[in-house]
Amino acid sequence: MFNRSRCLTPPVVTVFIVLFAITPGAQPSWVDAYREPSAKLIAESMSSRFAWERLALLGDTFGNRLSGSQNLEDAIDWAVAEMKKDGLENVRKEPVKVPHWVRGMESVEIVSPGRHPLVMLGLGNSVGTPPEGVEADLLVVRSFQELDTAGDRVRGKIVLFNVPFTTYGETVQYRASGPSRAAALGAAAMLVRSVGPAGLRTPHTGSLRYADDQPRIPAAAITAEDADRLQRMQNRGTVVRLRLKMEAKFLPDAQSYNVIGEIRGSERPEEVVVLGGHFDSWDVGTGSTDDGGGCVVTWEAMRLMKRLNLRPKRTVRVVLWTNEENGLRGGLAYLEKYKPQIDNHVLMLESDGGVMSPRGFGFSGSDTARSTVMQIASLLREIRVDRIGPSGGGADIGPTVEAGRIPAMSLDDDGNYFLVHHTPADTVDKIDPESMSRASAAIAVIAYVIADMPERLR
Ligand SMILES: [Zn+2]
Repeated sequence: MFNRSRCLTPPVVTVFIVLFAITPGAQPSWVDAYREPSAKLIAESMSSRFAWERLALLGDTFGNRLSGSQNLEDAIDWAVAEMKKDGLENVRKEPVKVPHWVRGMESVEIVSPGRHPLVMLGLGNSVGTPPEGVEADLLVVRSFQELDTAGDRVRGKIVLFNVPFTTYGETVQYRASGPSRAAALGAAAMLVRSVGPAGLRTPHTGSLRYADDQPRIPAAAITAEDADRLQRMQNRGTVVRLRLKMEAKFLPDAQSYNVIGEIRGSERPEEVVVLGGHFDSWDVGTGSTDDGGGCVVTWEAMRLMKRLNLRPKRTVRVVLWTNEENGLRGGLAYLEKYKPQIDNHVLMLESDGGVMSPRGFGFSGSDTARSTVMQIASLLREIRVDRIGPSGGGADIGPTVEAGRIPAMSLDDDGNYFLVHHTPADTVDKIDPESMSRASAAIAVIAYVIADMPERLR
């Protein structure tokens, strides 16, 4: 077919036909030079379950990985050894002092009318209760406005914020600021309806943020089902009395580490494309969705390049940050250490929104950089990870991105991340192997092309 058309058409026209055959409807561009390595990265990733198997191994072996725990440090040492086995370069641990909060035993129960235990999880960084617990009448409110309207009726009560989940950004404020807002009016303790879509009576933990000028009261999450039950009881005029017991406390700061591995650039090694996720998790489940999966797919992007002997002109660096969940000290330590080289950061990409159903990337940067990224994303059409959203970033890359005004990306995922994150149900079975292979391939292509293309992304 090709030979026959060449016989019948002048050579210049043939070249045009060939290029159009490769990219139907598009003008030939610099991106065409990356079709072959991209196809190889995609084929390599899609041909195995390596990423999923690695995530399963991480969760099955080390379990959850809260800052200060032995689990986290053992997992960090394992990651270092595995990265070396993958052939990554300059594999290292960079020290970070992290807060060491421990949950201890905890419970909440209705003590009147009748005795009924509720399912709960204390909020990260909460203070504990006295050993006998805090026993008080319940006051349910559906907003900060309802709390403020209640005024004097808040004093001495256990306040429950019963706010159904809309978006994480909107609903999380009740978990983060609720304890101090309630304490400001004299509440004895705070409960929050779990920040996530209603699941199967599963509580979600997460961190709170005490205001400096308010008393610190113990705080915990209960399930959507129990929050609705308490709301119904209050609406009927029932006086509900609760007892909350929490042993939560801080121990002295602990030693932890960011884990780093690289593929050094062949021509401009000082210029760096950074990928990563956070390796710590809450102390329930196995932190497979939040954020073991994000760590493994960014790490996998490096392994795929290495396996195919693809060494880009610039350096690609994977960072598994420590302590995102209850301190962000890993992300802050990275900025501190790399501040002198901040201008050499070409792009930072974080995956911390799940790897259940990858659809593309969020991007924040200049319009020129956006159009470059969109051209690169066209290489990901066949694996359906080619959508480029209006903004990208991540908690761990945030401090460095902001300080250096660095283009930032995040993996965008359509899966039900908030249903399982911060819960005992955050385990690897919620994630399918093909999704992880698609995510890994997409990150590998984005990272490889941006690290290798002739002009720096600006
Ligand atoms: Zn996370």
